[in-house]
Amino acid sequence: MKKLKLLLISVISAALLTSCSGGTETEVTDSSNNTDNTNDMNNTQSALPEDAAPQESEENAVSAPITYEIDPTKPVIALTFDDGPNTTTTNEVIDLLEKYQVRASFFLIGNNINDESAKAVKRAYDLGCEINNHSKTHSYMDKMSAEEIKEEIAFVSDKVKEITGEPTTFFRPPYIAVNDIMYESIDMPFIAGIGCNDWEDSVDAETRVKRIQRQLRDGVIILMHDAEGNSKTVEALDTLIPFMLEKGYQFATVSELFEAKGVAIDGGDTNLYNEVKAE
Ligand SMILES: [Zn+2]
Repeated sequence: MKKLKLLLISVISAALLTSCSGGTETEVTDSSNNTDNTNDMNNTQSALPEDAAPQESEENAVSAPITYEIDPTKPVIALTFDDGPNTTTTNEVIDLLEKYQVRASFFLIGNNINDESAKAVKRAYDLGCEINNHSKTHSYMDKMSAEEIKEEIAFVSDKVKEITGEPTTFFRPPYIAVNDIMYESIDMPFIAGIGCNDWEDSVDAETRVKRIQRQLRDGVIILMHDAEGNSKTVEALDTLIPFMLEKGYQFATVSELFEAKGVAIDGGDTNLYNEVKAE
């Protein structure tokens, strides 16, 4: 069955994907990584802990940090999640990060941060994940004044600093809507990424997996959502993470991805990153 799935993956044509509902469309053209490894996958997949169930979320459980070195000479990706935090799906995602011992980055909506969801943020941070900025209200910020934009950003950064002791490092624009005023007003690099329309409930877990697999390549930023109730993305991750580990990808935070590629983190940066390439 796996073999059949992989063969299907290799022949499916590129689809149009958007990031967050209503976002800018990004045409996907890269499928080169998944066309010739069918046998390899079948030979090695038994090494994965596929039968192990994710641990139940325990608010007070103390977990060891997920530590490993990123080798910049080998393929590296950044797994990222938008629209949290919450006490359910966010923790289910973190459970999987712990299960597979990989680090990721979370782009928070400020209005979702409360005393309870902050515990999930702290949990992710303590594991070595990066906590980033997805605005306070998740509005179209290209319709806002410079003052309003700055308030959106500062709200989240201040809240995150209260929880983790560190301000946010990267910004993901809601709906990937950007303009010059935003770039002038926000002192962080802008991050987009490759996605799988996982904010659409009609996209099943298997399709989410396939869409990410097809776009996978060194340096890419994977954009998914830990929004409350997004169980299909949790399900997809339980396939995707081991798949990417099998392919030899290292899981970096966004900061670690920039470092691995030798790209400086510059607040005046006017790029919108789907991937980070060595300069
Ligand atoms: Zn979003």
